[in-house]
Amino acid sequence: MYGKNIYSEVSKEKEKAITTFNEGYKDFISYAKTERLATEKAVELARAKGFKDFSEVQSLQAGDRVYFVNRNKNVALYVIGKKPLVEGLRVLGAHIDSPRLDIKQNPFYEKNEFALMDTHYYGGIKKYQWVTIPLALHGVIIKKDGTTVNVNIGESDKDPVVGISDLLIHLSADQMSKTAAKVIEGENLDITVGSIPLKKEENEAVKANVLKLLKKKYDIEEEDFLSAEIEVVPAGKARDYGLDRSMVAGYGHDDRVCAYTSLEAILDTNDPEYTSCCILVDKEEIGSVGATGAQSLFFENTIYELLEKTGDTNYLNLRKAMTNSKMLSSDVSAGFDPLFPEVNEPKNSAYLNHGIVFNKFTGSRGKGGSNDANPEYIAWVRKTMDEAGVYFQTAELGKVDQGGGGTIAYILGNYNMDVLDAGVAVLNMHAPMEIVAKADVYEAYLAYKAFLLG
Ligand code: MN
Ligand code: MN
Repeated sequence: MYGKNIYSEVSKEKEKAITTFNEGYKDFISYAKTERLATEKAVELARAKGFKDFSEVQSLQAGDRVYFVNRNKNVALYVIGKKPLVEGLRVLGAHIDSPRLDIKQNPFYEKNEFALMDTHYYGGIKKYQWVTIPLALHGVIIKKDGTTVNVNIGESDKDPVVGISDLLIHLSADQMSKTAAKVIEGENLDITVGSIPLKKEENEAVKANVLKLLKKKYDIEEEDFLSAEIEVVPAGKARDYGLDRSMVAGYGHDDRVCAYTSLEAILDTNDPEYTSCCILVDKEEIGSVGATGAQSLFFENTIYELLEKTGDTNYLNLRKAMTNSKMLSSDVSAGFDPLFPEVNEPKNSAYLNHGIVFNKFTGSRGKGGSNDANPEYIAWVRKTMDEAGVYFQTAELGKVDQGGGGTIAYILGNYNMDVLDAGVAVLNMHAPMEIVAKADVYEAYLAYKAFLLG
């Protein structure tokens, strides 16, 4: 159903289903604040629904459910279809990395009797949005002996939080005349971690005290941060938003809202005609690069492994399987914001509560860098959605030449498969607190499920 508000004719049962589904979603994003945690949670949910690690299976038949984990930050899940793999797959692809601040390799310093840690931001952020809010630390420190120390500070009510200071308004005469891009400098996104000096220590005593606490809690030295990956993210749980509780406020909807709905869709898919795939990738916010990003060979390697275990070792069939596949690039869209209508062209904008958003193209400056889906494929998607009674809308990312952005769509398109961008409309994208509508979250799940079975 195209272009309608989901609540215009919603049943009591559906309203209930929307609420229940979003409770699960809130739990997921409240926990899965990094790509590692999202991968861990995806595996846990998949195992509960009968998925096995690929290494646990000897051969594959229709109906089998397997997953592959790549370096703890990237996961691919499959439900084997009745048709042979060479006839193509139905692929849902979402990213599980979100904009944040990463702790530098040599992070600690002391200044004016405060201990601080240096960060380098990851992805596109408005830097001024990340100061004076409670922040949590998540990640791993890998010691030289290979031991992994898991770090999780700032989520429990009993935990401390950290944060970045900003200047008091009373002394901001100079600062307030700067542009928004300069009002907080990237190099100044440093978190405060302590103010008590270590007794009898004369040199950087506050920093020494913090390091002593870390040594006691984790048995780590300052040098161990050389091989650490610690992400600074907004602290606290996702919450209902709006007096009518119609929305969810949380960190990392982009793109864990599409990751969760795609994941739930494949977990609830049984005996599909075509093999179902859900791939959750890392590094989208910095260009989909590297071993765990969408450009990695990991994805096609997993499909070749599947072919082999279904008894098909013809390499050409890997290429044919790719060409015959259909994909939804599950990524968020910019929701129309009533406070900033001027950046949108209203007929081609995404509205909250209007269902899953299909973007024929993304990109910037004349669609640059976008996938631009084929109308033949879009027609098939429309038909599939209408047959399943799914609410959908179509949109572009803002007015022509207003800005732009990209997704992983073109990367999968390079395999010569049909790809269309499809996701949930978000307000405040890339801010520490993003907003989605609960009805859209549920509708995305329905859309992805219909796609896998289409
Ligand atoms: Mn995204
Ligand atoms: Mn993004």
